[in-house]
This record gives sequence, C-alpha cells and structure tokens, in this order.
Amino acid sequence: MSGVTSSAEDVRWNLSELAANADDVRTEWTELVERTTAFAGRYRGRIAELDAAGLRGLLDEADVLAQDASRLGVYGSSRVNMDAADVEANDLATFARDRASEVENELVFVDLEWIALDDGPADALLASPELAGYAHKLRVLREEKPYVLTEPEEQALNARRPAVSAWSALHDRQVATLEIPFDAGEGETPHSVNVLLSYMYSPNRDLRRAGLEALYTGLEPRVEVLASCYDALVGDRLALDRVRGFADPMEPTNMLNELDAETVEAMLAATAESYGIGRRWFTAKAGLLGLDRLELWDQYAPVGEGREFPWGEAAEIVDASFARFSPRLAEIFRACVDAGHVDAAPRAGKASGAYCTTVSKSVLPFVLMNYTGRFRDVVTLAHEFGHATHGALALERQTYRSHRTGIAMAEVPSTFAQLIADDYLVELEPDEATRRALVVDRLEQAMAAIFRQVVLARFERRAYALRAEGRTLTPERLSEIWIEENAAYYGDAVALPDGYRLGWSYIPHFIHVRFYTYAYSFAHLVALLLYGRYHEDPDSFVPLYLEFLATGGAASPAALVAPFGLDLHAKDTWRSAFEQVERLLDEAEAAYA
Ligand SMILES: [Zn+2]
Repeated sequence: MSGVTSSAEDVRWNLSELAANADDVRTEWTELVERTTAFAGRYRGRIAELDAAGLRGLLDEADVLAQDASRLGVYGSSRVNMDAADVEANDLATFARDRASEVENELVFVDLEWIALDDGPADALLASPELAGYAHKLRVLREEKPYVLTEPEEQALNARRPAVSAWSALHDRQVATLEIPFDAGEGETPHSVNVLLSYMYSPNRDLRRAGLEALYTGLEPRVEVLASCYDALVGDRLALDRVRGFADPMEPTNMLNELDAETVEAMLAATAESYGIGRRWFTAKAGLLGLDRLELWDQYAPVGEGREFPWGEAAEIVDASFARFSPRLAEIFRACVDAGHVDAAPRAGKASGAYCTTVSKSVLPFVLMNYTGRFRDVVTLAHEFGHATHGALALERQTYRSHRTGIAMAEVPSTFAQLIADDYLVELEPDEATRRALVVDRLEQAMAAIFRQVVLARFERRAYALRAEGRTLTPERLSEIWIEENAAYYGDAVALPDGYRLGWSYIPHFIHVRFYTYAYSFAHLVALLLYGRYHEDPDSFVPLYLEFLATGGAASPAALVAPFGLDLHAKDTWRSAFEQVERLLDEAEAAYA
C-alpha cells in the first residue's frame, strides 16, 4: 500500500477512473441523455406486456444507464468537494444536475409502471429466477402501492410542493442566518449556531457554559417563527397521511427503513428502559471532572487527551484491524488507497466532514475525510471504510439497483468497522492517556447515537400526537414536551439549564425528514449486537458477516440479520444490545479506576 509511507497531504483523489476531464464528462452526459431517451422510447407503456426475461433485459439496461449517471455525477461532485473555488467544476456540477434530472425523469416510468401492475402478474414475475437479482427492491416498491393516489391527485400534490417547502426553507434560513455576538476569548464576534455548539467539546468549562447560554439567548427572538414553521409542516404531513391512508405518523419513515412498527417500537422501548446506563456514566464523568454533578454543557467535555497519529500509522491501524477480522476487507481498503480513492487531508476549499460514495460495479468507492491526526480521525477512517467495504462487496455480488440498503442498515457496517478498529487500538495502544480517551470516546459515541437520538424521536412522536389532537405547536408546548423527554434521559445526573427549553428549535432533522434520527440508534444497536456475536464465536461469525455485506440491499433488514440469530421484533434482542453498551461503560470506568 503506497499510501502508508506518505503524509495525509499526499493522499488525494485521482478521478481518472471516472473520466478524463470536464469536457469529456459534458459530452458523455449529452450522450447519456440521448441513450436514456431512446431506452424510454423502446419501453415506455410496455412494461405490462413483458415476460420475466423481457423485464430482466429492461432492468439490466436501466442499471447500466444508472451506473453511467452515477459515475459522471460522482466526477462532478468530487471535483467540487475537492475545491469549492474550482470554476470549471462548479459549471460542470450545474450542467450535471440538469442532465441528471433529465435522465431521472426519463426513467421514472419504470417504477411507476411496475407499481401499476396487478398483484397476480407482479407476483408471478417476482417468483421467476430471471428476476432474482432485482426481486427484493421490486417488492419494496410495490409496498407503496396502497398509498399512491390517482395521477391527477399526485400531480396536484406535487404542484403545491414549493409552497410546503417554503416552510422548511424559512426554518433553515432563520437558523443559518443567526449571528450571535460572543467572545470566545479573542474579542466579541458574530457566531453561528454550529460554532457555538462546537465549544461543547472544549476542555474550558467557562467557554462551554457561556457558549451554550449565548446560543439560547440568541435563539429566543426567533423561536416563534421556528415553532410556526414546525407546526405548519407537522400539520401538513398529518393531513397528507390522512389522504394517503397512513394510520401512524411514523409509518412513512418506517417504510423507507424497511422496518415494521413492532420492530421500531421494541427498539425505542428497550432504549428508554436503558436510559439508566447513560446516567451512570454521567455520574461517573462528573467524578472524573471533579464536579458534584454534570451541567448540560459538560456532557461532551473531554476527560483526557489522546496522542497524535500520523497518517501512515492510521492507515496501518485500519489495514491491520480489518485484516485480522478478514483479509478480504483489508484488501479492499488497500486497493482503494492505491487507486487514489481516498482524499485525506483538510485543505482550503475542500468539503468538511467525511463521507464515502459508491460509484458502479466496475469502480471502487471513493472516501473523503479531513485527517488531522487525532485518534478520532483514525476511527473516522475505519468508519468510512466500513461503508466502502460494504459498497464494494455488495456491488461485486448484486445488481446496481440492489446494492444499497436503507439508512437504518447503511450505518451498521460503518459502526461495526469502528468497533473492530477501536478494539485493535485499545489493545495495542502503548500510551495510557490515549487508551483511556479511546474507551471513553467509544462509550460516548454509542450514547450519543443511541440514547440521544431516541430522545429526539420520542419528542417528535409527542409533537405529532399533540398536533393530531388539534393543538397548535406553540413554543411553550414544544418546550414542555422537550424538557419532559430530556429529563426522562438525563434524570438527576445532569442539570438542564433554563435555556435548554429551546433545545428543540434549531434541529434540522425535525424539519426535513420526520423520525429520521431513530435510524442511528437502530444501526448502532445492531452493530453492537453483531459485535457481541463476533466475540462469542469469531470463526463462524466472519463468513456470515461477509455474506451480510455482499447481500447489500437485496434483502430486508430482518432477513439480513436473521442468519446471526437476531429477531428484531423481540424486545429481548434489544435488551441484550444494552449489555454491550454496559460493557463499554464498565471498560470506561475501569480505565480510570
Ligand atoms: Zn456513516
């Protein structure tokens, strides 16, 4: 692996496998639109006439078109994400967005005509061996059928979309344009919500407290508008649910996640039952920080400092921790590094954060991150390569249409990869302080993903229930249920400041995708359950896990985890996941004993 010896600055994307240059990409987009139009011309209005082999031929062709669109799209967005100031790349991205939506529009008929088929012929097609590689995704599409209205009704609903999205746009703008005057030690300057929140990770307690108090003071004047936006959106969603026939406001999200209400219910209930694990850690953490009790602003305070990790060491850790799990995963990691599919170091103009994108059956995934040498960056590298190995193995085995899972399952392999990299780090790390920081970080990441996201989902559920009873979602009502749901988690272990009653007001998930957050809890818990199985019996676990990765999105979450003996309907399954969380807590407490 050539990347090991270089510094993070030398580890950059090489996009040549995607396309030679921007001009070629434009030409290819234009050709792709023509090819798609020709394809649609041959098949539109004919899906009901096709036999299994005919439908298979159509889907294979559509798969090729979708992969070309993906490859060209990734070239354009990657150029922009490498350098936001690249004028040629920005022009190309605009051009590509328009072409991509033309391609998409030309292909919409495939799904619509498939859904329109009667159950009899559709079931016969689904049972045929020719369509095995597409069957699951085709079946999932048909589950929408009972909720789809007539074409003129759907068109009318579509036509009012801009008016509805004006509410979320207004909410976004109210939060994004907030400039809160704050002095972080170098004189008073305007602060955004995110910068104030980032101070919660500072070792300086005064800064954490003052930052959070400034945030709530800054939100206060906008809270009426923020609540009105939320009220309008919740009211609209409930009205549409009635028109479409959804009985519960969580149902549309559960469908996206391919989870039934019973599973989600069992997971939420088991999590709320286990809130005490979180409180036990908060109490222990107060002791470590020399405090009687945590205040909310101490929640994410660092309890220790980890050492620096040069890029070469990080790559070796991911390589070695993957290799000892399965050589196949390490092979994919090295192949991606060697092919220039990793962009590691932060640079001016480069996108922030980290992500992994899959491309096609013939091109390995691409990973972007902002490596700065902290241990958390090593864990992030492992996380993104959990996604990349999942994508690579699923694309090797499945059709392009079937490779991707819903959000709830997508974060399972990344979380699992994080856990095995953490194991390796904790076992071999010679520096005591770093090892302690690692075990605390692993516990706190689990708590943030599992407990916190369930608190948010339970708050949303109560908001929808209030609105369904015909009550307006005023700031006072939202604050009341927000504090109640948070107090159920934090209890006496963490003091909540008065301003925290406005904590609901700036959270984007509530506005954009309802009940989005429980998918994180779900994924983290499933990853911990798998991790528990792995430690019980590594030899029989590993081949099953590789099979799980290679299945991609070609099976439901329940079917994906069944080979591991996990029944997602059973509350006991979820309870046993919390034994893993408790183990992480014991480990963190033992590190400081
Ligand atoms: Zn992820």
